[in-house]
Amino acid sequence: MKKQKLAILGSTGSIGTQALDIVRQHPDKFEVIVLTANSNWKLLAEQVKEFNPKYALIGNKSHAKDLENECSQTNILNGKEHLPELASLNSVDIVLNALVGYAGFDSTLAAIRADKKIALANKESLVVGGEILTEELKRSEAKLIPVDSEHSAMLQCLAGESWDDIEKIIITASGGPFRAFTKEQMHQVTAEQALDHPNWNMGAKITVDSSTMMNKGLEIIEAHWLFDIPVHKIQPVIHPQSIIHSMITFIDGSSKAQLGLPDMKVPIIYALTYPERLDLDTQRMNWNEILNLTFEPVDFDKFPCVRLAMESIEKGGYAPAILNAANEIAVQRFLNKEIGYIQIPEIVEKSLANIDWNDSLNAETLKEIDKETRTYAKSIIK
Ligand code: NAD
Ligand code: MG
Repeated sequence: MKKQKLAILGSTGSIGTQALDIVRQHPDKFEVIVLTANSNWKLLAEQVKEFNPKYALIGNKSHAKDLENECSQTNILNGKEHLPELASLNSVDIVLNALVGYAGFDSTLAAIRADKKIALANKESLVVGGEILTEELKRSEAKLIPVDSEHSAMLQCLAGESWDDIEKIIITASGGPFRAFTKEQMHQVTAEQALDHPNWNMGAKITVDSSTMMNKGLEIIEAHWLFDIPVHKIQPVIHPQSIIHSMITFIDGSSKAQLGLPDMKVPIIYALTYPERLDLDTQRMNWNEILNLTFEPVDFDKFPCVRLAMESIEKGGYAPAILNAANEIAVQRFLNKEIGYIQIPEIVEKSLANIDWNDSLNAETLKEIDKETRTYAKSIIK
């Protein structure tokens, strides 16, 4: 594998910092060209000093001067609007999109148009604009490789297989911290409880999404676009140990699974090196330990977000973008203690029911529907 030049968008986040750990392990295989952060300029400055990228971007403009003063050897860009430029630089081979939310969409689109290899952690890109992105991919040399552990598992199960032979995708879910809660107990959930995931250590937004299981809903939409598979052939299953990261059943009844400890570095390095593999210094499974792998069905009544996401993709058009924007606002309002936990799915459901849009689907109209949904979702009172 020749040395790969990386743009890491969202380098100060959970995925971004783990990607930099991989670069630390393999300085002969990866070179960092771009690092970006939204507001954590101090961590970004440390990263810039260590990895010496050509460009660094800070989203929050009030910190640009601080960053410039600390990092005089790097070109500093100021403001999120420049992210797509950095995602399409000639000098970059792989764009790792580790931004969170709809804010990542424009960079994925720009990277596709610039024929990049894209390691996609930002699942929201495919949720809001899967149709637009898959059309653009057909016209481009770009490759879209998932970082999400479930989709990385699917890709690994599909190595050497024909996609036409997929009968079903079984996407596993830990069930999050409230798997065993009753519906009544869900009313009392606090932000602190929702931010405490049993198996994974992740950014705040995805941690709350995992607790409501909206994360699984978003991932079903992500799998639908990545593997060109209808939603009714994607079955979510609760697997509390998070050892099997997903499975594929083929038309002859055989199923393949991909296993490993819950560690995002494994799917990150696979996305960066795909279709090859590279050694990774990380903890291995101990097969001498007694291991119980259990499965249970998803309770759609207790976790309505999964149903809402599946319905949104069946409806198509702008519905998944409305679902996503309403969810981003609802999660933010819940973390700000403005609304209760069970209002998250309520806000999403109301937004889907009340926002209508007849314009054709493209990147510009997507922006408008996102904005309108945010305004609506903010206006729903407690
Ligand atoms: P995080 O909150 O830890 O980090 C997000 C990064 O993006 C930070 O560097 C932040 O500065 C930057 N950022 C945030 N908002 C921004 C904005 N509006 N504009 C520009 N930059 C912004 O998030 P994370 O947990 O690393 O997740 C990143 C993405 O990866 C999400 O889409 C998430 O769903 C996905 N993902 C994460 C994990 C995980 O284990 N953390 C697993 C699977 C998928
Ligand atoms: Mg996942």
